[in-house]
Amino acid sequence: MNSDRDDRQQILGDLLTWVRQNESAGMEWFLDEGPAAAARETKAADPFDELCTLFVARILPLIENQPARQAQVLSAADKVTALAALREEVMPCTACQLHQDRNTTVFGAGSPDADVVFVGEAPGRDEDLQGEPFVGRSGQLLTKILTAIGYDRDEVFICNILKCRPPNNRDPQPAEVAACEPFLKRQLDILNPRVICCLGRVAAQTLLGTDASLKRLRETVHFYEGIPVMATYHPAALLRNPSWKRETWNDVRKMRALVEALKQGES
Ligand code: SF4
Repeated sequence: MNSDRDDRQQILGDLLTWVRQNESAGMEWFLDEGPAAAARETKAADPFDELCTLFVARILPLIENQPARQAQVLSAADKVTALAALREEVMPCTACQLHQDRNTTVFGAGSPDADVVFVGEAPGRDEDLQGEPFVGRSGQLLTKILTAIGYDRDEVFICNILKCRPPNNRDPQPAEVAACEPFLKRQLDILNPRVICCLGRVAAQTLLGTDASLKRLRETVHFYEGIPVMATYHPAALLRNPSWKRETWNDVRKMRALVEALKQGES
């Protein structure tokens, strides 16, 4: 028991160092509305790295107390094959009404070996045209957010709960979620990420089957099929409300810190 505690302390110590080292990686994405000098001052005074470590210390026992996942762990090559087969299934899908108006399905994109899967609610207009998730302005912002926490976009996996665009970008309807969620579940079974990060209220509420507010959902970790789930704002919401960028920055730093702690715990 003591040795477990020592291991955890070691992980948290390493993590604090890691957070500090990486903090310089990129704050610019949320500073574009303010003077950089003032922002750097904010950064210098930011006590958030310690809070990040405390967050991880609070969350690791919750994850450790979850029943072990029964997921089959696939090799990277087998994941590529399985995802390609699933994509072929999704492409012609007509299981819900959304197939009628779509230009194309949007399966998702990224590394089959991703530590983190980002899940949005559904494709928008640009995504429907290009067949790729999170393109356009909100996609560019998501890429900046990923860069800020030290990820290349192709290191993570990005997808949506629905694979087809709802008309006028309305919220997904329950029948559409029921029809499409099995695809997401199979994606996540194949990918077997360390953490899922929901982008936006609708994605988080839908994935977790709750009507809790995004504010509450952002406070802690939840679980989907045994996988830890965190939630933050959708990049499109950040474009409309830039003042939420600071909270998002905090969320994604906590998420990245948790991923690193989970990786260290396995090594
Ligand atoms: S949203 Fe999902 S279930 Fe509905 S048609 Fe598209 S792929 Fe099929």
